[in-house]
Amino acid sequence: MYDIIIIGAGPAGLTAAIYARRANKKTLVLEATTYGGQIISTLDIENYPAEPKITGVELAKKMYNQAKELGAEIEFEKVIEIVENGETKIVRTEDDEYETKAVIIATGTETRKLGLENEAALVGRGISYCATCDGNFYKGKTVAVAGGGSGALYEALYLSDIVEKLYLIHRRNEFRGEEALVKSLEEKGNVEFILGSNIIKINGTEKLDSIEVSNEQGEVRTLAVDGLFVAIGREPKNDFAKNIVKDDAGYIEASEDCKTNIEGVFVAGDTRTKSTRQIVTATADGAVAANAAIKYLNGGYYATH
Ligand code: NAP
Repeated sequence: MYDIIIIGAGPAGLTAAIYARRANKKTLVLEATTYGGQIISTLDIENYPAEPKITGVELAKKMYNQAKELGAEIEFEKVIEIVENGETKIVRTEDDEYETKAVIIATGTETRKLGLENEAALVGRGISYCATCDGNFYKGKTVAVAGGGSGALYEALYLSDIVEKLYLIHRRNEFRGEEALVKSLEEKGNVEFILGSNIIKINGTEKLDSIEVSNEQGEVRTLAVDGLFVAIGREPKNDFAKNIVKDDAGYIEASEDCKTNIEGVFVAGDTRTKSTRQIVTATADGAVAANAAIKYLNGGYYATH
């Protein structure tokens, strides 16, 4: 029996684990893939206090080690369900099930997919969702970036220094992302904007060969590309949380106290309804959710100092 099970080992989940262990609660962190969450695909982080410049991997490692050294248990298993069980909860994973008094959901978000046939099959064979992770494979090649937000503009800027030619494809005629980034891309010389256009087909069997792009007039252009970087935003990753109230976009509803509609279930980080999704707001949530869970476990009392 655990006191607190934390689902997700990103900055929110690991911070919650640190706070839970410091309150001497028996704590298990369940993580589907690798610890660190979204930050492990961020090359340099320059806005985390006291760390003027640190790689995402390094910061993740520090958080993970701190939680482990304080005695948090960590299992790499994908959670599929939380079941209410009287005074406790059962957290089911693909491999096992665990009983706990409180749960903190800190599963973050995942990259949005184009939803095209072939997209999933060609991931790692031409299709990528992370330029800093995979950009190096496309040295001197031709790639496309899909998206019109700052995320896509940053991906395109990063890749334009590596590749021979880059198409930036956006479904509207104006970018949503920062104007300064658009200007920098215009000055690159190897970047072609394809606006008001949608990618309608991905071609290739063993690897990506080409994509088909349709404009507002319905004219279709086939672009031979070695890589397609999809950067069309992110979506909450919390499908396993079935009876929990979510907003229209699927984020779990909770105010700053991180309490969900289910007693004993808390939410922290990017998968919660919020206005600012940053590492520092995720870690802040981790602390708040853990303290709320500790208070719940202690029957309403928790030390504030
Ligand atoms: P975003 O701002 O939500 O932009 C997503 C883009 O993808 C939009 O242009 C959207 O088009 C497009 N899109 C969404 N679904 C699509 C689909 N199914 N097919 C084709 N296009 C689709 O996401 P983001 O760029 O990842 O940025 C997320 C947040 O992080 C933003 O607040 C952004 O400013 C911030 N950010 C900041 C930095 C930084 O360091 N300053 C870097 C990256 C991101 P529409 O325009 O038509 O909706």
